Amino acid sequence: MASVTLQAFAKVNLGLDVLGSRENGYHDVRMVMQTIDLFDTLRFTSIPEDEIRITTSDTKIPTGEKNLVYQAILLMKREFAVKKGMEVYIDKHIPVAAGMAGGSADCAAALKACNLLFELHLSEEALMDYGKSLGADVPYCIMGGTALAEGIGEKLTKLPALPDCHILVAKPPMEVSTGEVYRGFDAEKHVVHPDIDGMIKALHNENLDGVTARMVNVLENVTIRLHPEVLVLKDTVRTAGAKNAMMTGSGPTVFGIFTDHVLAEDARNEIVAQGLTREVYVVAPVNEISER
Ligand code: ATP
Repeated sequence: MASVTLQAFAKVNLGLDVLGSRENGYHDVRMVMQTIDLFDTLRFTSIPEDEIRITTSDTKIPTGEKNLVYQAILLMKREFAVKKGMEVYIDKHIPVAAGMAGGSADCAAALKACNLLFELHLSEEALMDYGKSLGADVPYCIMGGTALAEGIGEKLTKLPALPDCHILVAKPPMEVSTGEVYRGFDAEKHVVHPDIDGMIKALHNENLDGVTARMVNVLENVTIRLHPEVLVLKDTVRTAGAKNAMMTGSGPTVFGIFTDHVLAEDARNEIVAQGLTREVYVVAPVNEISER
C-alpha cells in the first residue's frame, strides 16, 4: 500500500470536570467525550526519501515539526527505524484552537497511517500508548465514539452511544489560550462540579434529556470572563431551541444539542445573521470511527 486517505474527527465534551492539578502543570480531569461528524481529511503517501513533507489547505497551521502529524510520523520512524518517508496533505475543516481536538485528531490519523503504510502491525492499544506521549487527547481520538476520559485525559472507558440528536457547533472568531484558562481555573475559589456519574447513567438508559440536563464544563466561567462573547453565543443557541448548550474544552467553541433538525438549522442561520461567527455547523454524533 503506497497511499491511504483517512478522516480525522472532531470531538466535543458533553461534560468536563477538573479534579486537581499536578506538579507538571497537567490537570486531572473527568470528561465525557463525544466524536462528531466534522472532520479533516488526510492523504498519506509513503515516499522512498527519508523525509516528512506536509501541505495543508489551512495556512494558519504549522507544516514543520510543530505539526502533531509531523511529530507522530517522526516518532514512528524513529521507534521502528523506518527509512521510508511520508508525504501528507491535510484538508482542514475542524476549527483550529477551538477545544475540538483538531490537532490531536490529525495526530491520531497519522499514527494509524504509519501503522498501515510502514506495515507495523500494531494493535489499537499500542497505537494509543504511542499517542499518549504526543498529547493527552490523542488516545481518545484513536478510539472515538462516546467515552469517559480520566487521568490527564488518557485513561479511557467506552460508554454507550449518545441517543440520536443534532449538534450545532459554533466557533467564535477569537483564540483562547488553554494554559491561561487552566491558570484561571486554578485560582477559582468556588467550583460547582458536574454530575458526570449521573450523565453516564443517563447514557446507559438512552436518556438524552438526562444527558443534556447534566452538561457542565467547569472551565466555562473562566473563558467567559476572558471572552464574554462565549456567553452571548451560548444564550443564542439556547434561546434558539437547543435542549442545552455548553462550551467544549477550554473553548471558545460552543455547542448545542437539538432534537429538531429544522430548529438547529434556523439557529445556525441566526448566528451567521447576527454576525456572531461564520464557523458554525450542524452535525450528527459519530459512534464508530473505525467504520468510516
Ligand atoms: P484541544 O481540544 O485538544 O485542546 P484545540 O482544538 O484547542 O485542541 P488544535 O486545533 O488542536 O486546538 O490546535 C492547537 C494548536 O496546535 C494550533 O494553534 C496549531 O498551531 C497546533 N497544531 C499542530 N498540529 C496541528 C494540526 N494538525 N492541526 C491543527 N493545529 C495543529
